[in-house]
Amino acid sequence: MNRIKVRPSGIVAGGLCGVKGPSCTAATKPSGITYVFLPDGAQVAVCGACLDERVASGAWRVEGARSKAARTGNMSS
Ligand SMILES: [Zn+2]
Repeated sequence: MNRIKVRPSGIVAGGLCGVKGPSCTAATKPSGITYVFLPDGAQVAVCGACLDERVASGAWRVEGARSKAARTGNMSS
C-alpha cells in the first residue's frame, strides 16, 4: 500500500472532520480537529480518532511524528 505522507499544520480548531472514519468524533457535529496537508498541498480537517485510524491502517504517515508504539512506550516491534 502506498502511504500518503501528510504534514501536520499544528493548527487545532473546532469543526467538522473531513475524513469521517468509523470512529470519527466530529462527523456530524463540530468537535476538536486539526489540519494536515497532503502532498499536493490540499488541506484536510481531521479529528484525532480519524488521524489515529488513518495512521494505524497505514493509509497515512505523519511527517515528523513519532509512532504510536513510541508514544505508548512499546518499542518491542
Ligand atoms: Zn474524524
